[in-house]
Amino acid sequence: MRKKIVAGNWKLNNTVADSEALASAVAELATEVEGVNIVVCPTSVNLYPVKAKLNDSVALGAQNCYDKESGAFTGEVSAKMLTSIGAEYVILGHSERREYFGESNEFLKAKTDAVLAEGLVPLFCCGETLEQRESGIHFDFVKSQLTESLFHLSAEAIQDVVIAYEPIWAIGTGVTASSDQAQEMHKELRDHLASKYGQEVADKISILYGGSCKPANAEEIFAKPDVDGGLIGGAALKAEDFIAIAKSF
Ligand code: PEP
Repeated sequence: MRKKIVAGNWKLNNTVADSEALASAVAELATEVEGVNIVVCPTSVNLYPVKAKLNDSVALGAQNCYDKESGAFTGEVSAKMLTSIGAEYVILGHSERREYFGESNEFLKAKTDAVLAEGLVPLFCCGETLEQRESGIHFDFVKSQLTESLFHLSAEAIQDVVIAYEPIWAIGTGVTASSDQAQEMHKELRDHLASKYGQEVADKISILYGGSCKPANAEEIFAKPDVDGGLIGGAALKAEDFIAIAKSF
């Protein structure tokens, strides 16, 4: 059985007090959810205070981290620092980081290694633009993101990675991929993983969907056989909506 995961990406939102309140509300509601790994990913300055508000029902994740452990890298946060405050997950390669901060597949390869070496779970994001989808290169493009950043990993190591397919045209737009579009890409990615690592390994890797996922559409998307949960942006900022999504399995 693959792990079911619902992770909230809070992005650049919330003061410490707002984040603490949201974390407390999520933690309380999450005790009603069984069989789903619930993760919240506040901005880095809020990770530590949020951790103090969580319980065993909710894990802490970061939105990013650097590939170096320490040194003269002003403004960065390392994987070791994240584990030292109890984080268990890190979002890597979100399309916003790729677009606004120029993160390349090569850089994400190094970040993935750093995160795995520290025992954190990378929530590795991939996804195509609308133009790429309309020109029919979306499958090849997304598969190349996996190939270039992850396929150097051993069969053992790749099983610790969680993949989040997030079509860029669906992020924060209110436009969701249809459940069939999500399933089609997830299956394509699982087949791609199987071509490199074998079906048994590919079947163990959780692939999440992200992009305007909300309580109204989560159930249909999560019902698809290759969808193992969601990476949730806007709807994760309301505890009730976020937990309603986690209950959608
Ligand atoms: C995201 O940014 O990871 C995301 C899925 O955002 P939203 O749910 O707001 O589309």
